[in-house]
Amino acid sequence: METEAPINEVIEEIKESGGDAVKYCYQCGKCDTVCPWNRVTNFSMRKLIREATFGIPEIDLEETWRCTTCGKCPQECPRDVKQIDDVVALRRIATDYGVSPAILKPVRSANASLAAEGNPLGAERAKRADWAEGLNVKTFTEEMEVLYFPCCYVTYDQRLKEVAQATARILGKAGVEFGILGTSENCCGESIRKTGNEETFKSLARENIKTFIDRGVKKILVSSPHCYHTFKNEYPEFKANFEVVHTSQYLLELIDEGKLQINKECKKKVTYHDPCYLGRHNGIYEEPREFLKKIPGLELREMNESRDNSLCCGMGGGRIWIDTDMAERFSNLRIEEAIGLGAEMLVTSCPYCIDALEESRSGLNHEDVIQVKDITEILEELI
Ligand code: SF4
Ligand code: SF4
Repeated sequence: METEAPINEVIEEIKESGGDAVKYCYQCGKCDTVCPWNRVTNFSMRKLIREATFGIPEIDLEETWRCTTCGKCPQECPRDVKQIDDVVALRRIATDYGVSPAILKPVRSANASLAAEGNPLGAERAKRADWAEGLNVKTFTEEMEVLYFPCCYVTYDQRLKEVAQATARILGKAGVEFGILGTSENCCGESIRKTGNEETFKSLARENIKTFIDRGVKKILVSSPHCYHTFKNEYPEFKANFEVVHTSQYLLELIDEGKLQINKECKKKVTYHDPCYLGRHNGIYEEPREFLKKIPGLELREMNESRDNSLCCGMGGGRIWIDTDMAERFSNLRIEEAIGLGAEMLVTSCPYCIDALEESRSGLNHEDVIQVKDITEILEELI
């Protein structure tokens, strides 16, 4: 490859799409050493970056869509090469040229559903608030303290609806004045942006921002670290700044203020899985642990790969829509690690992680060995 002449037009295009930092790479390979893909198959971010610096990225290959944007290699890179920005730049170029390998078929469907119904699941917009039936959840109005914004998966997915329902019951018990936007909600757009579909992201973001401003929203409570990340770090690109709080932070606040009391014991060995977009991307490590430590009888055991060393579940960067071979799922490793620690319950705070971990739990026939729960689901049972 070193003998190839650089293709300057392509190098310029990568730069314009946000991948200028590829030029700083000195090929040390540290990114490949820490990348979780190399625990289950072979994948080289170093090689992708190398090809990009020469203007010869192979954007028609699956490799361009492998990175889950977990954030592990950017924190190890000695040259601040910004691997996530670089890979998203390549995906943007591929999307603009209409280059789309077969594995991206579900991403194309998700994109079409986002444009038509505001969610990536092909579900009807009219059913967006069905999860709240019978829970006395109101539509958000300006005088309310907080807007609860459940992510698309928490809204529609049968298993993940339980997270939204637990959250609504907890907020009700704590006497929080909250509401939802129901059919006026759109996907936050975080994951589709990471697949390179920038136009879809912008359109979703603009619609959400307009709705938030029109309805007088100031504080947004989210279940998903992906919504958290986008509202907090990406919507300000549109000059829109809202106070954003994740459930793991807010519920701890409610307990500390005496608005929620933990009345029961949970005599279980529990471990906590740090979601990439809550931990590495946003530095929220302590609140979920502080909350778990408040539960009488609960024994918190830490996995080796925790906090900024956490193992990705495999669902970020749009991989939630891309089929991953059962043998290549990082979440299998995570379930095994938790079981090896003697944990009876694996607690986390991200719908994508729950989805991946539940699939691995059942795929590995460990349903009787370990439970997977969101932080809200464990709290709901104890108050
Ligand atoms: S860790 Fe950074 S400098 Fe080293 S190969 Fe990877 S991108 Fe290049
Ligand atoms: S961000 Fe994570 S998944 Fe992507 S290349 Fe780096 S370590 Fe691998």
